[in-house]
Amino acid sequence: MLRLRYNEPLSRHTSFRIGGPAYCWVEPEGPKGILEAIDFVSAENKKFSVIGNGTNLLVKDEGFDGVIICIAKGFEKIQKEGEETIKTGAGLSAAKLVKYAFDAGFGGCEFLTGIPGNVGGAIFMNAGARNPEAPAKFEEIKDILLDVEVLDLKSREIKTLNRKDIDFKYRYSGLDGKIILGAGFKLEKNRKENIQDKIKAFNRKREWLTKISFPNAGSVFKNPEPGKSAGMLIESCGLKGKRIGDAGISEVHANVIVNLGKASAKDVFGLIDLAKTSVKQKFGIGLELELKIL
Ligand SMILES: Cc1cc2nc3c(=O)[nH]c(=O)nc-3n(C[C@H](O)[C@H](O)[C@H](O)COP(=O)(O)OP(=O)(O)OC[C@H]3O[C@@H](n4cnc5c(N)ncnc54)[C@H](O)[C@@H]3O)c2cc1C
Repeated sequence: MLRLRYNEPLSRHTSFRIGGPAYCWVEPEGPKGILEAIDFVSAENKKFSVIGNGTNLLVKDEGFDGVIICIAKGFEKIQKEGEETIKTGAGLSAAKLVKYAFDAGFGGCEFLTGIPGNVGGAIFMNAGARNPEAPAKFEEIKDILLDVEVLDLKSREIKTLNRKDIDFKYRYSGLDGKIILGAGFKLEKNRKENIQDKIKAFNRKREWLTKISFPNAGSVFKNPEPGKSAGMLIESCGLKGKRIGDAGISEVHANVIVNLGKASAKDVFGLIDLAKTSVKQKFGIGLELELKIL
């Protein structure tokens, strides 16, 4: 039985703490529940969108006139599948994947340390981080994926997509329109001390993030090209600390917008426009959003 929550404030479900209500919110407990939710979407003649942990999302002030399907609690399974392979549900947090892999003596996913999303959101976004020991090297979730289980909404069947058939790019998976249910990961046996050292190194690299005490959604823009960071470009335009309403460009890192109290999505869009226009004028570079807008 679907448990529907009408008029659900989306600010409660995003790390930004911004956004109006959804017409309806549902957290299916399995693939069957998703299909029931999709039937409900058709019956109500509404659109739908998928959410994981809401850490890469800016929801508009008017909210979402459709059904939000949250892939979380019903999809948290994790298990070993033979040598060095782990299968997880899409609703498992990235943190729990790192912890499980550590306990099992598997290395390779330490770069997910501190990324606050779920496995489904991390795959959709091809989440990643720079390797602290080799700063030129990015580690991304695509590098450790074997396959991704998705729900095909046309055939209503569960399909397993081989990682090679997915068009991953920087912060992009090409999985739009699909609902990610789970994934298989190929990790490597390693000594726990080595895994622990790597986790610590990633944590140290992310220390600056802990200095941001206001709600945010991580990086707002993609880095435009290797060696050119969106944060540095925005900072060079003198925009650190710039405020519109209750939204501000972080004093700590210029590629993060913070909600200083009661920021509206309109305030955040104002800062996004300002940063884009300023960087275009000063450097001739067009910044592209990493943040997803709902
Ligand atoms: C403090 C902070 C630090 C961050 N650091 C990093 C970082 O170092 N590296 C990095 O890459 N990102 C980082 N992020 C961004 C974010 O955490 C990641 O992109 C994360 O992987 C998003 O996962 P989520 O579950 O929160 O996805 P959501 O924000 O819920 O959704 C993001 C997108 O994925 C889609 N989606 C989510 N789940 C599914 C699913 N099951 N099936 C289909 N589509 C789905 C949504 O529709 C949406 O388009 C950070 C964010 C914050 C707030």
